[in-house]
Order: sequence, then C-alpha cells, then structure tokens
Amino acid sequence: MKNQDALARVKTFVLDMDGTIYLGGRLFSWTRPFLERVRATGRDFCFFTNNSSQNREAYLEKLARMGIEVCPEKMLISNGVILEWLRERHPGESAYVVGTPALEEDFRQAGIRLDREAPGYVVLGFDTSLTYEKLRLACHFIRNGAPVYGVNPDWNCPVEGGFIPDCGSIAALVKASTGVQCEFFGKPSRHTLNYLLARTGRAPEELAVVGDRLYTDIALAEGTAVTSILVMSGETTPAMLAESPVKPDLVFQDLGDLAEAL
Ligand SMILES: [Mg+2]
Repeated sequence: MKNQDALARVKTFVLDMDGTIYLGGRLFSWTRPFLERVRATGRDFCFFTNNSSQNREAYLEKLARMGIEVCPEKMLISNGVILEWLRERHPGESAYVVGTPALEEDFRQAGIRLDREAPGYVVLGFDTSLTYEKLRLACHFIRNGAPVYGVNPDWNCPVEGGFIPDCGSIAALVKASTGVQCEFFGKPSRHTLNYLLARTGRAPEELAVVGDRLYTDIALAEGTAVTSILVMSGETTPAMLAESPVKPDLVFQDLGDLAEAL
C-alpha cells in the first residue's frame, strides 16, 4: 500500500478505457480535463485496453470520435503484448486464432500465418464472432498437443444493459473440454507489465495504472513498485472493494477527483 506521495513520483499514467475514461460510447465529462491536467503537470499518459475484440485502429477512431486525438504509440492493447511475445517464442510458426476479423488482421500484419490445418499454437481472443466450428477446431489442435494462449483473462465485458462473455469465459469452456488451462496475456500478466515498461521507458515507480477493475487493472501492479489507482466510475462497487484480496494503492471516485490530487 502506497500513500499519496507515490503520486508525486508518477510520470506516466496507464489508463484503462471502459469504465475509466468512458462508459460504452459516452466519454466522461472529466476525462479531457484530466488529460490536460496530466500534461500541465509535466506528466504523460497512454491507454491500455484488454479488449481483444478490437484493434488499435478501431480504438484510435473511437477516441477521435470522442475528441481525443493521440498518436498511435499511446494506444496500447493486449493484442500487441501477445504478438510481441509470440514473435520471440514461436518465430515462423503458424497460428490458429479464435478471434474477430480485427484480431486476425493484427496477426496477419505481424507476419504470422493463420492456419486451420496444422497450426504451431492456438490463440483465444475475445471472439464476438465465435462459432461452434472454431471451438471444435481449437480443442482438436490443443488435444493434439498445440500450446494455447489467451489474449486477455477477463470473464465478461461490460456493454449497454449488462455484460457479455469475454475471453476468460471462452478459455474456461476450452479448458473444460481439453483439460488445458491457457496462459493469459493482457492485464494483469507480467507480460503486460514488461511491455508497458518497455513502451514507456519508465521505471516501475514512475508508472501508475488506473482502472475500474480489481482483478485486471489493479492486480497488474500487485507486488511491484507500480502505483495502482482504482476509480469507482466503472464496475467496482464498495462491497466488491471491501471483499477483494487485491487492494489498490489509491482510490478515487473518478478521473476528475484524481486530477485534483495532481
Ligand atoms: Mg475497465
């Protein structure tokens, strides 16, 4: 647990998106003033989302529609974390990807061949275009020994009117069938922490991760010198915070309140 002084050391805020800077398609009124405050205090920010149903281009467009123009380097996504790791660990191998066309496109752009015959490994994403045939093939390859990786561990994704099953739930189905638990990327994996440190060029104590979800955003900083900041503008209720084994270093109602503390 770090105190408010930790904020003074922070040079880059890693901002979650849904529930943190907007809710669904609606930008919070305090988000742009917060970003201006971050810049005015000589600090920096980037966005990081676990949502592997979209890619960087889609998020840059969404931000632009909301009046937030950022360079592509500031828009980070779980897809980038796993792709960087796969290039090192499975160079030249093909992939069977259970994912949306946007995730498949990210693999193609990274030079990884998509393979429905004999892939080197299987990747599970937040596939809103999931079919039974995709599940059947993924489980078949895994049973035959292909390693399996999950882009992000989230159980559900918040949408207007509730939640929809996310990558973690798809991975749970695959585990039930094959007995194999995939290795996850995205938040809160160490892969993502290392990726963020490399991308920002900051030391851990100079980073703060800001988000509305305890088991991804806040858990990313657990056991590290990174400062974790929970905002109550998304999915976490006071009761969930009280019961959670994962505790944030700092809690603010929203980014507007955080801006006042800078
Ligand atoms: Mg969120």
